[in-house]
Amino acid sequence: MRHQNFIDRDKLYGMLDNNAPTESQLNDILNKARKLKGLNLDDVAKLLCVEDEADIQKILDTAEYCKDEIYGRRLVLFAPIYTGNACVNNCVYCGFRRDNKALKRKVLTLDEIETETLHLLRMGHKRALLICGESPRNDANYMVEAIRRCYAAKDEKGSTIRRINVELAPMSVEDYAKLKAERIGTYVCFQETYDPIEYAKFHPAGTPKADYLYRLTCMDRAQEGGINDVGIGVLFGLVDYRFEILALMEHARHLEEDYGCGPHTVSFPRIEPAEGTPFSLPENIPHPVSDKDFMKIIAIIRIAMPYTGIIISTRERPEMRDKLVKYGVSQISAASETNPGGYDEEGDNTAAKPYEKTGNTGAQFTLGDHRSLDEVISMMIDGGYIPSFCTGCYRKGRVGADFMDLAKPGLIKEFCKPNAMFTFREYLEDYASPATKEKGLRLLKELTQTFSKEDLKKRVEGNLCKIGEGERDLYF
Ligand code: SF4
Repeated sequence: MRHQNFIDRDKLYGMLDNNAPTESQLNDILNKARKLKGLNLDDVAKLLCVEDEADIQKILDTAEYCKDEIYGRRLVLFAPIYTGNACVNNCVYCGFRRDNKALKRKVLTLDEIETETLHLLRMGHKRALLICGESPRNDANYMVEAIRRCYAAKDEKGSTIRRINVELAPMSVEDYAKLKAERIGTYVCFQETYDPIEYAKFHPAGTPKADYLYRLTCMDRAQEGGINDVGIGVLFGLVDYRFEILALMEHARHLEEDYGCGPHTVSFPRIEPAEGTPFSLPENIPHPVSDKDFMKIIAIIRIAMPYTGIIISTRERPEMRDKLVKYGVSQISAASETNPGGYDEEGDNTAAKPYEKTGNTGAQFTLGDHRSLDEVISMMIDGGYIPSFCTGCYRKGRVGADFMDLAKPGLIKEFCKPNAMFTFREYLEDYASPATKEKGLRLLKELTQTFSKEDLKKRVEGNLCKIGEGERDLYF
């Protein structure tokens, strides 16, 4: 079944003309946002037109409030595994594009996927994102085997990957059903740009990706294939970011109206330089998004879709990532490599061994954050954040609409905060450097005192104690 286009390009661009809010309109919108019920398209269009520094700060403050009310200080960590960089497409901004002769091509064998998984496990990761270019070599059958091997890998401490998300090219309903059967978490696919006219310029004709509508409706097919946990996103820098934000809102509305549940996550990648890809150099990016605007749009999405996870990757520099988590980001990748086999090439990235960048070939883009997982966690502790590797909701079946029902009354804190603390304690026991462990345990002790319900506090203390004694994988 061919699904319909739900993006009205002219309407969305039209909403951005002279639509800056008056002071009282801005205050009304931000007061509405503080009720944690989200914002409509018109509210968001007005916020996108705000340019005044003091008014932007009001938006950021509101986002910080919403983030704190819903997510507390929890921040979910994951890492990608690039299974292959072969690609039949020619997206002008991407290092994996077919015509990039400078790129060393590789599609991992199942043994190599296991090796990459072991590197992640030995750092302390529990959540992996499998990702690759679009190629018959990475088809759904290959991904099924890749997922199985990734879940099956076990390190010396007995740790396994507990949740695999996948970021893959659009597929048929039948192929989505195959992925669903392998217990994937979130299916992620970015539209890159929702502007169909500009889309055609960046995705040359004759490639599968040139089909704008097939990509736009991939989440509809994923739903038909049984996947109700999906992640959307755009590549910022291709067109006016304000249009993209409105289009993301429209995509979320479409999913909510037609399938009863909006996206689980929205990702915010900005174009980064890629090997052999002149388009990706800063001077060639058509609509670069400044740090200031980037913070603003993350804050706007946080208050417009308060229960949707916001993801940023190691494309962003540490200073920027540390700011963005305050204003809305709820998930970050850490200690990532973006080339197939990259973790193995770098050697053993255990927490005790500082991560050293030696330069990549075969990578999709240049990284902005080269810190080890232990360094990222250490800085999170310093900022009062709780690193989380939690997969409890997914494994208890609290996903899709069920997750949203749970999240909306604010119960997310009741489950997610304790579960985050349990996975954090596991990390400290098994993988942290001595200095990180010491301050992490101190933070956990302080956090335990913040539960007002006595019975919950006791249960949390009990589980933390059991983990200290060697039990693993405890969650509510
Ligand atoms: S963006 Fe994706 S589809 Fe396009 S060239 Fe890169 S890997 Fe291939």
